[in-house]
Amino acid sequence: MPLTVHQFPCLSDNYGFLCRDEATGLAACVDTPEAGAILRELNKLGWKLDLILNTHWHPDHAGGNAEIVAATGCKIVGPAEVTKISVIDREVRGGDEVMLGQTRFEVIETGGHTLGHIAYFDPADRIAFVGDTLFALGCGRLFEGTAEQMWNSLQRLAALPDETTVYCAHEYTASNARFALSVDDDPALKARADQIFAARERGEPTVPTTIALEKATNPFLRAPRLAERVGAGGEPDFKAFGAVRAAKDSFKG
Ligand SMILES: [Zn+2]
Repeated sequence: MPLTVHQFPCLSDNYGFLCRDEATGLAACVDTPEAGAILRELNKLGWKLDLILNTHWHPDHAGGNAEIVAATGCKIVGPAEVTKISVIDREVRGGDEVMLGQTRFEVIETGGHTLGHIAYFDPADRIAFVGDTLFALGCGRLFEGTAEQMWNSLQRLAALPDETTVYCAHEYTASNARFALSVDDDPALKARADQIFAARERGEPTVPTTIALEKATNPFLRAPRLAERVGAGGEPDFKAFGAVRAAKDSFKG
């Protein structure tokens, strides 16, 4: 039986994610940007929270852990770095597995935004929760890791099946699209950007996305093809990626 995902906006531009294993009725919360909003949604749905799955230690991802545990008695699974701001019950790393009832998540190492960042992939349902590693038309800033580490992390996500539904943790897509158009004139990107601007005008979310869509149009995944454009012609792929990331960091759009 499948995994059901419930997505809702919280804080200024985060998304909260609750998911439920339909075979057993057990639910998990992926990151805890805002405890009050998450507890309200759980109540509305009538779901029983079994686990928090943290992707990284940032307060807009793990800051609500304690309040949610106090309210629900759930357990916390996450990378070791989360202990900077929260207790955890089980430390996981790339290659580990986490069960939610009958749903199996594979833990993928995706360091770069933070050193210990991880993603959770449910291969049976082709669903990935990627935190702040991959965004619709974007990727996370390199706060702790190197361009090479982040490039390798993004390649692990790009290797997931094309049809994988990708839940990223922020609604940054319109701003990402403006940057993407500044470094890439691919027609597929132009068409997608138009759809994104229209969706945001209507107040609609642009998350989730898919691996296929990101491989086709995300300038960070397409960095090797944009190398000349960002002054990294003839360089290794991770350097082209680093140049695109640096261009985004200084982009005023
Ligand atoms: Zn973050």
